[in-house]
Amino acid sequence: MQGCCRPFRIDRVVPLTISRGQTHCLERLLVEVSHEGIIGIGETGRVDTGRYHYGSRAVAAELAQLWPQLKPYAPDQWQQCEPLFASLSPPARCGVDLALLDWWGKALGRPLWRLWGLDRQRCGATSVTVGLGSVEAVRQRLWQWFEQVRPSRIKLKLGSPRGLDHDRQLVQATIRELDRWPGSVDVQIDANGGWDPEQAMTMAPWLKDQGAVLLEQPLPASPDDHEGYAALRPHCPLPLVVDESCWTLQDLIRLAPHVDGVNLKLLKHGGLSQTLLMARMATGLGLRLMLGCYADTSLLNGAAAQLLPLVQWPDLDSHLNLRRDPFLGLERIGDVIRPSTAPGLGIQLAKSLQC
Ligand SMILES: [Mg+2]
Repeated sequence: MQGCCRPFRIDRVVPLTISRGQTHCLERLLVEVSHEGIIGIGETGRVDTGRYHYGSRAVAAELAQLWPQLKPYAPDQWQQCEPLFASLSPPARCGVDLALLDWWGKALGRPLWRLWGLDRQRCGATSVTVGLGSVEAVRQRLWQWFEQVRPSRIKLKLGSPRGLDHDRQLVQATIRELDRWPGSVDVQIDANGGWDPEQAMTMAPWLKDQGAVLLEQPLPASPDDHEGYAALRPHCPLPLVVDESCWTLQDLIRLAPHVDGVNLKLLKHGGLSQTLLMARMATGLGLRLMLGCYADTSLLNGAAAQLLPLVQWPDLDSHLNLRRDPFLGLERIGDVIRPSTAPGLGIQLAKSLQC
């Protein structure tokens, strides 16, 4: 097979602010493998969750070294290729894994969800993200989402550097605003590791009283963060979900006894193959699944969407906040996202890439 990687730029319509900072414009990588006239595509890019950081240029350099080594193999010779992937960073592995799987599905003429025997009708509503900001900015963002998607699930970012009082104001303003919407809307909280254990213990019962339905990553990620979750859980009346804390199978095993769910992301785990394994393992350990994204286009979210039938809390909204998403094929009806019915990932490049 031949492989290559092309950088492109994306811009968010609304910059996203979380407890660790703000992102607006980002460099991404389109990964391609070709063999026997079929081209498989994948996406990867920068990931920075505080505990781990991978830059997109470093990921591109890893892939540039990989391509000559993959040359003797076909894209479906996974076992032969596997040792070559062992030293890759999770985002580099993600890019190549998606391109190989896209090639495989296209070669067989089937979408991946079908090859894995998943039921496309089981995809639930995705949450949409409201970042940190002033009360007025949060109110405005809610109404933008209402116009665009009519969401039934909101993910509100907390862990504000301005402190717990500001976090509480944002929650109350959100609940007030949502009371004006038709129908009921679930409010999930994601603190992105912005609280210490004492703050998390104070906030969790208060959030439950306000009507929040879930609490994600209240504590900072660290190698021994399971101890913090073990202490927090008896005081937390909401389902506790980990995101930044859980990258590997080892993290999953370490955290599973102390939390209720895990937010799976393709860039963190190294692509669809590994995320499918994580999903099966997490379910076996009794956890519920969220499936999330970073600043991903509908190519990466279209790949993640292949696993939506396995997931209780879909969270694939990043492509809905891009000024110019270059890809086509991911289905959305209202706030329900479903994987494409086309072969492979089912996503095509529809516009030229911005460099
Ligand atoms: Mg999160």
